[in-house]
Amino acid sequence: MRMCVGCREMKEKRELIRIVRTPEGETLIDPGGKKSGRGAYVCRNPECLKRAIKQKQLERQLQVSLTEEVSQALIAEMNRLSEMKLPEAEGEPGT
Ligand SMILES: [Zn+2]
Repeated sequence: MRMCVGCREMKEKRELIRIVRTPEGETLIDPGGKKSGRGAYVCRNPECLKRAIKQKQLERQLQVSLTEEVSQALIAEMNRLSEMKLPEAEGEPGT
């Protein structure tokens, strides 16, 4: 279980999206959760991301200073991701 930095609820990792600060200093959404760097988790919900940015929780967690431009890019990406369906877990029996 991981905590969303927006609403601070504990959720399953697959319900959350990882945001990473790469070693190069970029702040990106990392849907695969595979990139190296310091990470923070938010719900698959643009509202949680907006809240995390507004309340500086994301900056605190990633120890980074987010510009308006980067913030807007992250929100746009989250809007796109939130419209997609959750990936089916491979190898699990169907319901
Ligand atoms: Zn949340």
